[in-house]
Amino acid sequence: MYNELKKTEAVLAKEWEQNNHLERTQKNDGRPDFVFFEGPPTANGRPGIHHVISRTLKDSVLRYKSMKGYRILRKAGWDTHGLPVEIAVEKQLGLKSKKDIEDYSIAGFNELCKKSVFEYEALWREMSQKMGYLIDLDNPYITLDNNYIETVWWILNKFNEEGMIYDGHKIMPYCTRCGTGLASHEVAQGYKEIKTTTVYVKFKRKDADESFVVWTTTPWTLPSNVALAVHPEQTYVKIKHNGETLILLKGLLEEVIEGEYEIVEELKGKDLENIEYHQLIPEVKADKKAFYVTNAEFVTTDSGTGIVHMAPAFGEDDYAVGKQYGLPVLQPIGLDGKFTETQWKGQSAMDTDPDIIEYLAKNNLLYRKQKVAHNYPHCWRCSTPLLYYAKQGWFIEMSKMRDELVKANETVNWYPDFVGEKRFGNWLENLNDWALSRSRYWGTPLNIWKCGCGHFMTVGSREDLAKKAIGDVAGDLELHRPYVDEVILKCEKCGGEATRVPDVIDCWFDSGSMPFAQRHYPFENVDVFENQFPADFICEGIDQTRGWFYSLLAISVFVKGRAPYKNVLVNDLVLDKNGKKMSKSVGNTVDPFEVMDKYSADWARWYLLYSNPAWTPKKFNEDILAELGSKYFGTLKNLYNFFTLYANTDSIDAEKLDSPYESRSELDHWLLSKLNRLIGEVTSAMDSYDHMRSVRAIQYFVVEEFSNWYIRRSRRRFWGSEMTEDKAAVYKTTYEALITVAKLTAPFAPFLADEIYVNLSGGESVHLTTFPEKNEQYISEKIEKRMDLVKDLASLGRSARESVKIKVRQPLSKAIVDGRHRDLISDLAPLIMEELNVKDVVFEDNLPLYMEFSLKPNFKVLGPILGGNIKHFSKELSKLDQGEVAMKLENGEAIEITVEGDTKSYTKEEIMIAINSKEGYTVRLENNNFIILDTTMDQNLLNEGYAREIVSKVQQERKAMDLDVADRIVVKFAADEEFSGAIEQFREYVENEVLANVLEKVDSLEGKKEKLNGKEVVYTVEKA
Ligand SMILES: [Zn+2]
Ligand SMILES: [Zn+2]
Repeated sequence: MYNELKKTEAVLAKEWEQNNHLERTQKNDGRPDFVFFEGPPTANGRPGIHHVISRTLKDSVLRYKSMKGYRILRKAGWDTHGLPVEIAVEKQLGLKSKKDIEDYSIAGFNELCKKSVFEYEALWREMSQKMGYLIDLDNPYITLDNNYIETVWWILNKFNEEGMIYDGHKIMPYCTRCGTGLASHEVAQGYKEIKTTTVYVKFKRKDADESFVVWTTTPWTLPSNVALAVHPEQTYVKIKHNGETLILLKGLLEEVIEGEYEIVEELKGKDLENIEYHQLIPEVKADKKAFYVTNAEFVTTDSGTGIVHMAPAFGEDDYAVGKQYGLPVLQPIGLDGKFTETQWKGQSAMDTDPDIIEYLAKNNLLYRKQKVAHNYPHCWRCSTPLLYYAKQGWFIEMSKMRDELVKANETVNWYPDFVGEKRFGNWLENLNDWALSRSRYWGTPLNIWKCGCGHFMTVGSREDLAKKAIGDVAGDLELHRPYVDEVILKCEKCGGEATRVPDVIDCWFDSGSMPFAQRHYPFENVDVFENQFPADFICEGIDQTRGWFYSLLAISVFVKGRAPYKNVLVNDLVLDKNGKKMSKSVGNTVDPFEVMDKYSADWARWYLLYSNPAWTPKKFNEDILAELGSKYFGTLKNLYNFFTLYANTDSIDAEKLDSPYESRSELDHWLLSKLNRLIGEVTSAMDSYDHMRSVRAIQYFVVEEFSNWYIRRSRRRFWGSEMTEDKAAVYKTTYEALITVAKLTAPFAPFLADEIYVNLSGGESVHLTTFPEKNEQYISEKIEKRMDLVKDLASLGRSARESVKIKVRQPLSKAIVDGRHRDLISDLAPLIMEELNVKDVVFEDNLPLYMEFSLKPNFKVLGPILGGNIKHFSKELSKLDQGEVAMKLENGEAIEITVEGDTKSYTKEEIMIAINSKEGYTVRLENNNFIILDTTMDQNLLNEGYAREIVSKVQQERKAMDLDVADRIVVKFAADEEFSGAIEQFREYVENEVLANVLEKVDSLEGKKEKLNGKEVVYTVEKA
């Protein structure tokens, strides 16, 4: 007996756990390894639908590879450090600044951070189990772990030994509230429109009574000005205006100057170089030569005045030019965003604009001001406007490794390849140094100690720390702030005391270290590491190109000289169904738990893989999920239920049935051919990480070929009561196809596939079995070609019937098929007859006997092109052999037509083909394939139509009564002479079809009343 399908996904997931699926896939028993690295999520937030996507992609690959015979370690990971964690705790404690945190105590603060990172761990566990993501959550790598940190230190120490760590400045967008720099992708999230007062300012020359006119949108940066920049090749002018002499770009005169002026001189930008001017706001002292004109190519000539104010403390270009000219950096603004000197000391820089403008006006330094609305970046976390700030920090000199990284990337297979070549490749080619340090609290502490003598040193392990420390270091010292801050090292150079640089590191360095740190390499597990590096496969979102994909590559190439991954599958964003970004504030997010509860994990997974390639943005549409799920899984269940219903009735164990290939029918051979082709297709798709191609191929096979053709065509073969060779063949073939489909489906939709497999085979689990191998011997081009043609003709025939509204139940006398198919399928004519319910199939060479083609120009397309000549075109077209041309066009060929001496090619796009069947026929044409049905009816055909109608109604009634397939019945009916005569004529047929012991005509009857083919019929059905 085959069981019903009734296990819930939760029950199946429990069984997998009880049967140790995870341990068994991870067990080292001589199988080759397939190495996978899990990108670590942060568990301080709820998992979202986008996590389900990348996990479905990963899990499908891993399940597939497991079934292919690989051993796979599925170690989970947690990213636990970083600012988002701190922000959450700050909010919870109501802390507003770094000073608040320090007043609260760093130890206490970090303790709360540590707790909060696992706040949602249970929910992540639940999601993994619910969606069937097999992952080892009991032995994860955790970035806050002491061993993990020790490996990270070991790597950083190695960088320092190579001389690649340095202390420098970097202009970075900086949030004064959060007290930290932002990465470029973070900046992109926070643009808001603000109104600012911009100013045209006059910088007065030292050696002449002339002024440079300069425009700035940030007056608060003017006290930090050290130079001006002009474009060396552009033309500048001196003008007389309101009694003053002003200098600016010639091309911007009209936009800047209001009122009369007179040009007195033209000069090139390079002629202005080195001209000195008076410091605009002489409040901050410069310790180097400053306040002169520089030349710079970046100066734009389409806005402003063509002369740019330079404050190296606040701009990347400014900083670069400053370095080139040896300019000082004037930094009167602290990290809290407030002035530390000048008369505006203590004021928040961004709020100082009005005061500074007033100062300029009072000192005759203002030419004019202008209110401008522009997009300005704000902190995406706290909405504070960002400062571009030259921040001191620690860097890794990655630019030195640019070529090596580019080369290593070339060894990686990216799916899709353009991400690796373009997006990632371009990023590597323009690689900057890695800004490593963060002036924060909760993170891997930077392992740099600095001495008063200027020397700095790094430590590479706990042992190293103890060795270099002054005094004892506890063996179990927690490698976090503030504990490591308290350790003082003895300076290697002068013997003095070195204290730790209080920064923590970029958490991307943490996650990028995972190939090493997850094994506590090189302190432990050297073998495991060597065996598990590099990864065969990783998969994460497109946003990781500058995140984890990069940090992994950079660290691994440095440590091991090679890329850490061989294949990278990249998935794109999830959007709502209208293509809008999902966000909590808009309320268009999708809760993965709700979706899985409502539809099942199988449906959700199938939909996510089916609907688009992983690497294009996904518009999440619940309606399509529902439709697709019911189509695929509904069909699969129906197939299973159909098979097991008959197999149980016949008490058949299909596994034990003997049915050699040769003794099976052509239809069986066709299904086996398609099935093996499918195995090949899914295997090749999955070997190139193409989930969509895989699931689409599987679904097409199951719905269109297996269910809609094979089983529909084979239904009757299950009916007979004796076990014939043919019955054995259909059982065996259906069984094999179901088992194979379960195996093919298993990696993508692991639940139902497992239940089907276990129920049918008695095996332990589909996930512990092997993936099907394609058997070339079963693949037959010829059988497929024949059957596919018949299948296509049948489908055309059905739509031909629809077009004249004749039901398939009404028999017709004949179908006419193109004579050129005679050799290929004439022996399959009975199949077409049955499929289309026609009495005969005729292969006909002389088609014009039954239909005529007529060709007309497609006015919509050709009208605009040909204009008045379309009439001539029509005329030329009508002269051609319409049938012949129509066939050519249907074949995708072009035809040549000469209109008014102009010969051109035309295709099906431009010419409309109308087919008219002759009186008494109907025709359907598609892709150069057609079928013609003879629609003339005689009494015999009509009578058979009536008989089939009553059979159909009684069958429905049997179903409604929930009768067993073998139950016999009594049927009574009342109808007119013609209808009763028809039933009499087909009595045997009707009785056999519906299993009627009695089929009796009565004069009148209380029962179901229906109109069958226009005749009023009353009938009753009872169990015999
Ligand atoms: Zn902020
Ligand atoms: Zn020293």
